[in-house]
Amino acid sequence: MSDMEFKAKIEELKSGSVAVIENTAFRRITLLGKGHADLIDVMGDELAIVNAAKVSYSKHATKLTKNNIKLIKYLWDHRHTTPFEMVEFKFRVKVPIFIRAQWHRHRTWSYNEISRRYTSDDMGFHIPETFRKQAEKNKQGSEGEFNDSENEAFRKEMESITKKCFDIYDKWISLGMVREQARMILPQNMWTEYYAKVDLHNLLHFLRLRLDPHAQYEIRVYAEALLELITPIVPNVVEFFKESLDYDI
Ligand SMILES: Cc1cc2nc3c(=O)[nH]c(=O)nc-3n(C[C@H](O)[C@H](O)[C@H](O)COP(=O)(O)OP(=O)(O)OC[C@H]3O[C@@H](n4cnc5c(N)ncnc54)[C@H](O)[C@@H]3O)c2cc1C
Repeated sequence: MSDMEFKAKIEELKSGSVAVIENTAFRRITLLGKGHADLIDVMGDELAIVNAAKVSYSKHATKLTKNNIKLIKYLWDHRHTTPFEMVEFKFRVKVPIFIRAQWHRHRTWSYNEISRRYTSDDMGFHIPETFRKQAEKNKQGSEGEFNDSENEAFRKEMESITKKCFDIYDKWISLGMVREQARMILPQNMWTEYYAKVDLHNLLHFLRLRLDPHAQYEIRVYAEALLELITPIVPNVVEFFKESLDYDI
């Protein structure tokens, strides 16, 4: 879907002429090979931010005028944050489990995730194309990459051990072992999928932390995708947010 079609879809949604069907993404961004970030649902836009602020003095706007955009900038600059909570986004994401662990540290989101106690469907694993070297000074960081033959050797080793875990899992399931125990053998690079809902204020907090060059590359690419997904809906806020970052993206 092009950006123009995407904007038109959102406009249709806002005018109430389109029913939002669960599982039908407005837009999908594919990441890390088989992963993705989908925008599933949206509540509110920049006018919702303006009207949340204007209710303080019992006023209401029907159009996003230049003055209203200035009001949003004022709210942003002075950290009047609750009007930004009037806009909400629901995403559906497919991420490796080690990224889910980082993402779910953000307590202001609501989550619902696929359960490996219920289903063994659609199991798969993330094998990176390239591997990064450990940074010398920053223990949580990486610097530089391995060469092609080293990458291939790491990939083969990861594929082989991952496949072995998967095969043992299948064997244990076929022997009748309960899924909640069989899954203990599954590695951290396994894909998982969940809905994640958040308001704009807390999403921007997440993005500030996870777009940062100090964040792990694999979560940074999801943060970039979410920023891209919300830009057509809250373009001015995204601009103010980007200007306020103390690092380059
Ligand atoms: C680069 C990076 C490295 C990290 N490394 C580690 C690590 O080594 N080990 C580790 O354990 N974690 C690590 N984290 C996770 C980090 O400590 C936070 O748990 C995570 O970023 C969520 O941030 P948050 O609590 O601000 O977000 P949210 O949970 O979304 O909360 C948003 C804001 O709401 C408020 N809030 C929410 N809950 C509470 C509460 N219970 N009490 C008071 N205020 C609350 C706070 O103001 C908070 O900033 C790392 C994060 C980053 C970005």
